[in-house]
Amino acid sequence: MNIDLEIFSPVQPISNPLFDEHGVKVFLKRDDLIHPMISGNKWRKLKYLLKNAQAKHKNLLVTFGGAYSNHLLATAAAAARFGFKATGIVRGEAVDNNTLFLCKLHGMQLIFTDRDSYRDKPALFSKYFGDNEDAFFIGEGGASADGALGCSELIDELTETYDHIFCACGTGTTAAGIINGLTKHQLKTRFNAIPVFKNGSFIKEEIDHFLTAPANYDLHTDYHFGGYGKATDELIDFIKQFVAATGIVIEPVYTGKMMYALYDLIAKNNFKPGSRILAIHSGGIWGLLGMKDRFV
Ligand SMILES: *Cc1c(COP(=O)(O)O)cnc(C)c1O
Repeated sequence: MNIDLEIFSPVQPISNPLFDEHGVKVFLKRDDLIHPMISGNKWRKLKYLLKNAQAKHKNLLVTFGGAYSNHLLATAAAAARFGFKATGIVRGEAVDNNTLFLCKLHGMQLIFTDRDSYRDKPALFSKYFGDNEDAFFIGEGGASADGALGCSELIDELTETYDHIFCACGTGTTAAGIINGLTKHQLKTRFNAIPVFKNGSFIKEEIDHFLTAPANYDLHTDYHFGGYGKATDELIDFIKQFVAATGIVIEPVYTGKMMYALYDLIAKNNFKPGSRILAIHSGGIWGLLGMKDRFV
């Protein structure tokens, strides 16, 4: 089977009086529309990993994530779509939630593991699959050079140029891939990374690890809203207003923080008048389901 999805990810202009006031133009690349389950950057990261698994005749994908992981769900759905089996090794005690329900719906087997053992993923892989010739290891979040390669293709798809690109960062693989794409096309576009973790400056090491050539980019580390998976009322209110004003769904874990950062930096005069800014909608809207009690 040919492992590929037809990419539908249009670039859409977003309007807001704030942008006019500051003379900037904002666009959103709709990677969230690539697939309802294998959403956004998760498909891009999985593409070459799955091709690699296929080339090695491995038909069982084994990967790792927290109980709300978009990556687990994307892997479950991609495995089902392309004829693989999948096992997800989940951090923490056995639970049930919307994400894990969707993983199981796609046929993924789940193994729950305590937080200590979860740290050593190669050890977990060999414990459960050491003698299984079919098993293929995929790191947490799809972090890998293959993952970055897939993400670099986002830049191949652009038909216009931008002064800035904004993207939310977890493992930094997507950021590295996009930066590699900019390098490949010799674009002067400045990359802006929004880590969704507290103390996000460590992400620079992760990003740089997957760069094909050294590059400068901006890290905006003040938009974590308390840490990974955390949110403030201010963030929730921003998301409500954004969705109601645009009809585009964003969520508190990744894309909400990234869009908040973009609006905030525009308001703080971070960009020259005339700047064209492209934000990446990296998908993951199912993350909303894990936080819906915050929206009441
Ligand atoms: C996983 C995820 C990210 C982070 O991607 P990394 O490559 O791990 O940095 C960003 N946005 C969304 C919606 C995600 O699900």
